[in-house]
Amino acid sequence: MNELDDPPLDRLKHHFAQRVIHQARHLLEVWQRLSRSEWNSSGMDELSEACLRLLRYAERFEQAEHADLAKAIDNCLRAVQENRGRLSSELITELNRLMQRLSRTGLRHGDQFEQTSLPPLRKPVYLALQDMERAERLAQQLEFFGMAAQPCESANAFRAAMAERHPAAIVMEIDFAGAAQGLELANEAQAGLKQKLPVLFFSHEETDTPTRLAAARAGGQDFFTGALDASSLLEKIETLTRVAHYEPFRVLIVDDSRAQAAHTEMVLNSAGIVTRALTAPLSVMAELAEFQPDLIILDMYMPECLGTELAKVIRQHERYVSVPIIYLSAEDDLNKQLDAMSEGGDDFLTKPIKPRHLIATVRNRAARARSLKARMVRDSLTGLYNHTHTLQLLDDARFRARREERPLTFAMLDIDHFKRVNDTYGHPMGDRVIKSLALFLKQRLRKTDHIGRYGGEEFAVVLPDTDATSARKVLEEIRQRFAEIHYPAQPGDLTCTFSCGIAELTDDMDIKTLAKQADEALYRAKHGGRNRVEVYG
Ligand code: GH3
Ligand code: MG
Ligand code: MG
Repeated sequence: MNELDDPPLDRLKHHFAQRVIHQARHLLEVWQRLSRSEWNSSGMDELSEACLRLLRYAERFEQAEHADLAKAIDNCLRAVQENRGRLSSELITELNRLMQRLSRTGLRHGDQFEQTSLPPLRKPVYLALQDMERAERLAQQLEFFGMAAQPCESANAFRAAMAERHPAAIVMEIDFAGAAQGLELANEAQAGLKQKLPVLFFSHEETDTPTRLAAARAGGQDFFTGALDASSLLEKIETLTRVAHYEPFRVLIVDDSRAQAAHTEMVLNSAGIVTRALTAPLSVMAELAEFQPDLIILDMYMPECLGTELAKVIRQHERYVSVPIIYLSAEDDLNKQLDAMSEGGDDFLTKPIKPRHLIATVRNRAARARSLKARMVRDSLTGLYNHTHTLQLLDDARFRARREERPLTFAMLDIDHFKRVNDTYGHPMGDRVIKSLALFLKQRLRKTDHIGRYGGEEFAVVLPDTDATSARKVLEEIRQRFAEIHYPAQPGDLTCTFSCGIAELTDDMDIKTLAKQADEALYRAKHGGRNRVEVYG
């Protein structure tokens, strides 16, 4: 903070800025609600209203970034109106992009802007522990992971915080503010709430079943005993408070009739689904690679080939074996339909189809495919992308970077002297460190970055739109912060570091070369003494 600032004025500014944040949060909530349900005119009106209010506040309180975003969102909503209330793929994508930016505004770490002093959009966690020093230490550790935590000194401080704002979660020591008073306080906080707040109870000593039952009744989602470390706490909070990150479904429509394709697009767009239509079936593979749909709708009879033939070709590619394919056709011969299904299709819809039926089918199939895919491409210990998928994402990112002439950076991380961690503290502790680094990267990198578990204690990060210099800055900060995390252990706390190698894409380079360069840079970091970030070349 600038020391010359008049403190009351500063506080006033802070207070007003908070209103802007509050309104931004409201707008995002309306958006999320709409995204999950049908889009209708009253929902759009509500969105519009929330957006204009944000614009007013942001202008009044001089929050330029929020004002710009509100203006851009308003423009989109006006375009929808001019389109007779109809959404299009472009508008859905643009709105989604703007909302995601809005959700990050004021959240970014390490910026020099005033926004950093604002409360983050994400709700804080209240820490009610007997030992205030311990609570403060824990808050600081959670802060390293990008999570806001607020230690409460007394029962009244906790009550005051609750009155001001509901937290994402509460960490409550059973004996906070007196024997079993923590339990009481949690009950008091939950009273009258429609939806209970998640509480994580903590006790120094092992407790009896009645206490655990009482804790569960007071909204206790978990019970920690003994040591309380930031990473396992954060992991729990993450799973409890995760708001499904909304990405609109993407559907590729292949139909030789432009009119039929346009009609299908319109129906799906009206439900917030992004579409792309293709009238030339033979270019389907290029389109798949580029558009990455969640689902494909195929016309059955096209002059160049049959829908079933096209499905076969698509299924021959390992990458697309699990993308659902729905046939849409006037064919009502059940036998022919069944034949078609055996050729790699998942469903058969007969024209004319009711819009609601089409939307429901597409949504259900796409959602199931997404969750299946998530399990296939992710590593089970960390939830990060596995090796194979990370390289696929790198390949996709390279394709986009070349086309849009944007930079792309690939980074490889390897935990230092990890064998020693296993040898000294045991394998479970090693696993915990791996999970904690995974979580740390997820919290601190952008949503658009791809994070993978490359090997045992090796990680890889794909950073689109980022050159080596900026990547080094980001990873350097992460490296420093990660080294500050303490894992409670016997005989003494454990800290870990990692080394990192970075390489930037240059013309005509394939991903093998890029990965090799990052690996070489990592090797240099290791030999240069570890706990450092090196850029190739
Ligand atoms: P360096 O600083 O040179 O990277 O040394 P290091 O000890 O980290 O490297 P090394 O590759 O020799 O050892 C990595 C160890 O990581 C060996 C392996 O047992 C352990 N490891 C790999 N995967 C896992 C895992 O999933 N859990 C645990 N706990 N350990 C793992
Ligand atoms: Mg290694
Ligand atoms: Mg290592």
